[in-house]
Amino acid sequence: MSVDPSPTSVLAVARLSPLLMPQLAASFDLEVLPDLDAAALAAVAPRIRGIAASGDSKVPADLIAQLPALEVISVMGVGYDGVDVAAAKARGVMVTHTPDVLNDDVADLALGLMLSAARQLPAADRFVRSGDWLKGNMPLARKMSGARLGIVGMGRIGQAIALRAQAFGMSIAYTARSAKPGLPHRYLPSAAALAAESDFLVVITPGGAGTRHLINAEVLAALGRSSPAGGILVNVARGSVVDEAALIDALERGVIAGAGLDVFEDEPRVPERLRALPQVVLTPHVGSATQGTRQAMADLAFANLQLHLGGQAVRTPVPECR
Ligand code: NAP
Repeated sequence: MSVDPSPTSVLAVARLSPLLMPQLAASFDLEVLPDLDAAALAAVAPRIRGIAASGDSKVPADLIAQLPALEVISVMGVGYDGVDVAAAKARGVMVTHTPDVLNDDVADLALGLMLSAARQLPAADRFVRSGDWLKGNMPLARKMSGARLGIVGMGRIGQAIALRAQAFGMSIAYTARSAKPGLPHRYLPSAAALAAESDFLVVITPGGAGTRHLINAEVLAALGRSSPAGGILVNVARGSVVDEAALIDALERGVIAGAGLDVFEDEPRVPERLRALPQVVLTPHVGSATQGTRQAMADLAFANLQLHLGGQAVRTPVPECR
């Protein structure tokens, strides 16, 4: 009986979640890209059959081209805009991601950012801690219940946000590439048209070239004009979807009233001008960052890799690879 002496080699393109790395190291011959120089990568490249990546990772065409035995790229995250899927597909490489298991957490955070920006929760916290309360009351905030919510991107997470917003009595409209006839909410054909009828505009599309700067100065101006108190923008999608310079300008000039942002154009660098604005609530890309959800994402990313390398069908291929 012949036994293959070489374990399957997998390349982690970044230092990935501690919930995933031990599983990978226990099952595969694991190489970690940040630890390899060009010569070391060239030496292991011929035997790499799988790539493990996070939603923030870059898997460019030139890396794929360097790995002749590559069969599968498994992303621990639903967004895979860092992967050159066209290059992978051209080589017959499967790409997988981890949809659905994070819908609740990202939707929860979106509602949290909406409430935080509307009711100024971080400022209220600072007000109590600083002792300013002893000198008088905080300025009045604005009401979220019953307001108009516009959702840019009505996919898995967008629909989970809508479900939660219904409990706040909000009227809900959305935009996407196409209308969803099965949903009870109003469809508008563009982000600008939606912003013009929204008090809160929540962005939850994929990143990448197709949505780059979808939220621009024109959309922000429409959001600002839409309500006397000025609109609030929440971005839990990708930093690239919002023109950050236009957003800072709109906030500084009072075109819109506030923002809640989990994602930024050049993470983890956040412009000083944005950090200086008290009407902005900032979180460090933590949409899916709870223990249970990150565990479920790690388990699904690992299962996809193991299934494909074991010759079985993966659970969650990206749409382009279905
Ligand atoms: P999804 O089910 O694929 O939904 C994406 C939605 O965006 C769809 O409704 C799609 O429209 C719409 N869309 C795509 N391109 C568009 C465009 N150019 N203009 C307008 N709408 C467009 O994805 P999901 O699972 O909800 O996840 C959405 C994104 O959230 C991910 O790709 C990721 O970038 C981000 N995310 C962020 C975090 C975080 O930590 N902050 C966590 C998880 C996910 P159609 O339905 O018409 O195709």
